[in-house]
Order: sequence, then structure tokens, then C-alpha cells
Amino acid sequence: MALAQTHPVEPSFRDSVDIMFNRAVALMDLSPGLEEKIRVCNATYTVRFGVRLRGGLHTFTGYRSVHSEHMEPAKGGIRFAPSVHQDEVEALAALMTYKCALVQVPYGGSKGGLRIDPRDWDEHEMELITRRFAYELIKRDMINPAQNVPAPDMGTGEREMAWIADQYKRMNTTDINSNACVTGKPINAGGIQGRTEATGRGVQYALREFFRYPQDVAAAKLSGSLDGKRVIVQGLGNVGYHAAKFLSEEDGCRITGIIERDGALYSEAGLNVEDVRQWIVKHGSIKGFPDAALSDDGAALLEADCDILIPAALEGVINMTNAHSIQAPLIIEAANGPVTAGADEVLRAKGTVIIPDMYANAGGVTVSYFEWVKNLSHIRFGRMQRRAEESRHQMLVDELERLSADKGLGWTLSPGFKQQYLRGAGELELVRSGLDDTMRGAYQSMREVWHDRADVHDLRTAAYLVSIGRVAASYRAKGL
Ligand code: NAD
Repeated sequence: MALAQTHPVEPSFRDSVDIMFNRAVALMDLSPGLEEKIRVCNATYTVRFGVRLRGGLHTFTGYRSVHSEHMEPAKGGIRFAPSVHQDEVEALAALMTYKCALVQVPYGGSKGGLRIDPRDWDEHEMELITRRFAYELIKRDMINPAQNVPAPDMGTGEREMAWIADQYKRMNTTDINSNACVTGKPINAGGIQGRTEATGRGVQYALREFFRYPQDVAAAKLSGSLDGKRVIVQGLGNVGYHAAKFLSEEDGCRITGIIERDGALYSEAGLNVEDVRQWIVKHGSIKGFPDAALSDDGAALLEADCDILIPAALEGVINMTNAHSIQAPLIIEAANGPVTAGADEVLRAKGTVIIPDMYANAGGVTVSYFEWVKNLSHIRFGRMQRRAEESRHQMLVDELERLSADKGLGWTLSPGFKQQYLRGAGELELVRSGLDDTMRGAYQSMREVWHDRADVHDLRTAAYLVSIGRVAASYRAKGL
């Protein structure tokens, strides 16, 4: 996979996260000891293991990093990519700590990675490799319902999570909570409705919440609602695809650009996200997609004129080499770390509003939390309440209709209203409601700091202040 071309003097991803952390703690009153305790990564485990494939022994390198255990289990995805390395995994684990604190899911921060290009191996080989990696982590309790719970990330999805869960079960045959050892599983293997699209859905909810505040919208030199906004998205994978699909189909956004690893598509009239996705699935590339201009230099489209830029692929893509040229007034970081610390300075000076990663892509971990709770409670959300709720609603509708008939009022409830009102909330509705509530609440806590403190000028610093404050409070409560 092509790595983002960063400036030679730019710090690493891990240092970039620390620079942003340091900028925020400089505005806080933490003891130097506590500050250091929160910043450092507690442990990183590196494993090299062999798998016999295609008649030979192949050695793979994997990592699992735990940034903080102020709450347990620690939580964070597992990434499969050839670019995976320790610095990246540690940066991502740190972001998980701050993200979980910001959206108030009760976890420490962790992340894992396997250095592999999944496209090099067939499904059966991937299963052998994934199971072996999982085995190495499980036997050291680095996958465990009470201690460390992975989830999907770049290059992994529900297929890998199902293999990991099954591997854990084979090794812990009497653990009644084994399903809770990993989230993002398929629905028929202990998963939850709405998890696959949760991160993209969270990006949509984050933007909706942002656009509820005209003051914030004006800060990004925009006006009005999401309807008609021109959006460029980078990465049409799990996160980018769902975010772009929902924003275009449900909020009236026009997806004018899609950047993928092999180029970019542009159409001023707007691209049909589903059609592009199906094209990629069928042809393995965006090349040849009809009714759009194709550019071989995909990353150049990051600099094009648009209202909202959604980097949803990988870290470091907006850096010192292109930050000055970015025209989008609003960036929402669907990926982790797409804007380097240096680029962040440049963009802030230009007045670009950035909705930071630790908030923007928190939908995934939020719904993972719901899945974990579901697995531990061994019951689907809504199973007990749904019909009771429906019968109460039915009573109200019957009473209204009876009153109308008795008094000769001639009232009739519209069939659409009745149908919607009478339907009790199932798991998907409850997951969406919990996700929406979480995204709204977290945004409000950030914007309060952004607007109320004279020394805070951006949402990222505000997000760090909220989350570091919560992690610090949790450490203090433990007597540290
Ligand atoms: P994914 O593997 O499903 O999709 C990544 C997409 O980016 C792919 O379509 C790939 O072709 C494309 N891509 C790769 N390199 C590219 C490049 N140089 N230029 C343009 N496109 C490129 O991964 P994902 O799960 O959607 O994750 C994307 C980002 O979102 C990552 O930063 C990840 O950490 C973050 N994230 C994911 C989740 C989740 O639930 N999956 C949750 C939170 C954050």
C-alpha cells in the first residue's frame, strides 16, 4: 500500500499525537508525574510467528499495544496492512484512550496490527494466519473479555473477528463470556445490528450535530445545513463508504470526489457512492468508472475546492507538503491521524475547522461497547421491552380513536404515523439511538470548552482537554 508522503522533518505518527497531547496539557493543571503517566504507552507486545503456507514457512510480525489501563478491558482495533509498525500501533492505542474517554465508554486504550497485505493471501490462508496471530495474543491474555477486546480496523472486518472469537472459544471452552473477547463480529456469531456501518454512521451523526450550531458552521465559513454541501472523501472502505453513502442518501450532500489508492474520481454533479463501490467490488479498481473524471494522482484531489473533506483512509495524508493548499474549510477526520501535527498548525492558522479523529470516528468503539454489553448480558437489546412498548402505544392509539368516535370528532391518525408510532424499538433502532446520543453528548462537551475558554481555539485541543481531564480523574480516584 502506498504510504502518505510526509515532509522529511515531520514527526512520526506517535510524536504527532504527543505534540497534540502536550499542547492540551499545557493548558491544564496536572502534576508532571500524572501528565507523564497518561502520555506514555504502558506496554507493547511484539510477536513473530511462523505459519506453514504454500509449502514453506512464512514468518509474520504482529503487535498489540496497551496505552492505558485506567479502565479495563482495554479496547482497540486490529489492523492488517504492510505498513504496520510499532510507532503506528502505539499512536493508535493512545488515540483509543482519548477517544474512549471523550465518548464515555468505560475502556482503556489499545491497538493491534499485523504486518501483512491481505490481498497477497487467499481466504483459507488468511484464516490460518489470523488464527495463529490470535492464538499468540490469547495465550498472553491480550485478547480477553475482561482485559483486552479487539475490533476491526483497516484491512480487517467481521470475517476476521469471527475467526478470532472462535479461536478464543477453542482455547477457553468453559468461559461463558467468550463472545465478549472481540467486537465487530457477524450478527450470527454474537455481533450486534449496526456495528459494520457504525463508524461511518458516527461520522454522519457528528456532522449533523456540528450543523445544529450556526456559530460553529460560521466558524468554518459555511452556512445552512448539510443539504447540498460538496464533499470529497478519501478511502471508500468501511468507514469512508458508509459515511459518504449516508451523507449523500440521507442528508443531501453531493459527493463530488472519491479518492482511492489507485486514483481519484471527480464529478461536479455528484457521484453515486453505491455505484462506485459496486464498480470497485467488480473491477478491483475505480478505473473505468463511467460519468466521472479520473485522475491518477489521487492525493491531489485532497486540495480541490469543496465544503467538507473527509479523509477516511490512513494517517498522515494531510501534512506539511500539502496543508497550505487544502481548500476545504471543514475537515472531518474519519481516519485516525490523517492530519499531522505540523499540518494541524498550518490549517488552524488558515482558519480551517477540523473535527478531530478521536471524536469523529468514535462511532465504531461506541457500538462495539454496545456489542460487548450485549455479549456479557447474553440477551439482544429490546428483546424484553419491544412488545410491551408496542402494546402501550396501541392502547393510546385505541383510546384516541375511541374518544374521537364517542365525541363525533372525526379525527383519524394518518396510517404512516400509526405504523411508525406502533413499532417498538428493536436492536437496530436502539443502537442508532445510543450512538446518536453519544455523538451529540461528546460534541457538546467539546464545543463547550472550545467556546467557553479563551485559551482554546480549536476542537482538537478542546477534545484533548475533555478526555485528558477524565482520564486524570480516573487515575486520581485510584490514588495515583
Ligand atoms: P478499510 O480497509 O475498510 O478501508 C480503507 C480504504 O482506504 C480502502 O478502500 C483502501 O483501498 C483505501 N486506501 C488505502 N490507501 C489509500 C490511499 N493511499 N489513498 C486513498 N485510499 C486509500 O479501513 P477502514 O476500517 O475503513 O479504516 C479507515 C480508517 O478509519 C483508518 O484510519 C482506521 O483506523 C479508521 N477507523 C476505522 C474504524 C472501523 O470501525 N473500521 C473505526 C475507527 C477508525
